[in-house]
Amino acid sequence: MPDEMARPLIRGRGERGGSRCLEASMSDPGAPVVGILGTGDFSRSLARRLVASGYQVVVGSRTPKRSAALFPEEAEVTSQMEAASQADLVFVAVFPEHHSTLVELKPTLAGKTLVDVSNGLRVNLDGPSNAELLADLFPESIIVKGFNTISAWSLQMGPRDGSRQVFLCSDSSKAKSSVMQLCRRLGFIPVDMGLLSSSLEIENLPLYLFPSWRIPVLCTIALFISFYLYNFLRDILQPFVTAGKSVFYKMPIETVNVTLPSVALVMFSLVYVPGLCAAFLQLWWGTKYNRFPKWLDGWLTRRKQFGLCSFLCAVLHAVYSMCLPLRKSFRYKLLNLAVKQVKDRVEDSWDSAEAWRMELYISVGIIALGLLSLLAVTSLPSVANTVNWREFSFIQPPAVEATSYSSYPSTQTCCCRTSWTRGAAEKWEGS
Ligand code: NAP
Repeated sequence: MPDEMARPLIRGRGERGGSRCLEASMSDPGAPVVGILGTGDFSRSLARRLVASGYQVVVGSRTPKRSAALFPEEAEVTSQMEAASQADLVFVAVFPEHHSTLVELKPTLAGKTLVDVSNGLRVNLDGPSNAELLADLFPESIIVKGFNTISAWSLQMGPRDGSRQVFLCSDSSKAKSSVMQLCRRLGFIPVDMGLLSSSLEIENLPLYLFPSWRIPVLCTIALFISFYLYNFLRDILQPFVTAGKSVFYKMPIETVNVTLPSVALVMFSLVYVPGLCAAFLQLWWGTKYNRFPKWLDGWLTRRKQFGLCSFLCAVLHAVYSMCLPLRKSFRYKLLNLAVKQVKDRVEDSWDSAEAWRMELYISVGIIALGLLSLLAVTSLPSVANTVNWREFSFIQPPAVEATSYSSYPSTQTCCCRTSWTRGAAEKWEGS
């Protein structure tokens, strides 16, 4: 295990399997010097990417001799003090609980830019952030928060893999723009998040686990349980209690299959109901400039997740339906029916009306699933970005647009002017 830990994340140039993209470029003597404090996973990946992007890299370690072998030969691994004195821009790739061990570098780092890449262990809503604490420790240095949302792995693989966005914030716009420039040169996309007070938000970003999915998923599960219980009581328990007929075998497939479309339909309606509520509220208030209640705001911003949960249930229903004829119980039923028809000497059991009903029933289901798939696909940002506003409104019905940006009055103005609310909105705007 210790050997594993000591092995560099990326093999060196001479080693087998070395990363070709990283070898493409090497630092030149006139290139800017970037310092890194710490020699862990993050530091190693960052050093390699900086070297590959043409920077001179100096790494500061408590034990430089031991760590040097883990870094590319173009990077200089030296003491923390030496690294801090050589570079004007220094990445602090040390866990925040060890930031205090760097205080002896305070005079050397005065006036220099420190990039805090640290993450917290749990969501911190009250502050202060690690970056703000670092700023208190090094009041004469300029702190920039960033790169914490990029994993060592993404740095190693390059910006093709994983998220390319790097969220940055600082109280010094000059320091921030120099880090943004570096970020672009590494192939990432810098996102300016403003002042250092935003660092808490940036530090919390990697800790959230699908925050906008919790309510839609819970809703789906709750609806599924309710509908399943209802179907179970009606189709399985009731025949068993009243006629002693045991059809418990229906529980895993048939009952689930009957339950799924009900959940899909209710979830789908939950995508559109908040848009209607919002439109009615605006008409009721006589203005579009009032903020919606918090619950409605939250609901409006989660419509995409409600829609995708509905889509999942619809797809599962389609799969379950296709599997129905594969079941043994179905084949038994079919066989029994055929035997009964032979026994009863039924000559022609063809029922045209029944056949039509089934054909239409299935074709409507297929069309509904196709349209739902279109809505689901166009809700993906990568697809939505390729169509203009008009094309998007053509595919996504007006009720979805009506209050897409519930919290922002300016966008509400344009969103309110959808076909069915236009007259009312203009009337209210005029009043
Ligand atoms: P790591 O592998 O544990 O490395 C931390 C390094 O800190 C050590 O190698 C050590 O280098 C140095 N260090 C300096 N003073 C220390 C002290 N008093 N005690 C212990 N170590 C000390 O950690 P990492 O994964 O590289 O993460 C470093 C920072 O980057 C963390 O703040 C983390 O939140 C952030 N980060 C990491 C990732 C990632 O994917 N790993 C992603 C985003 C952000 P020397 O022994 O050579 O001094």
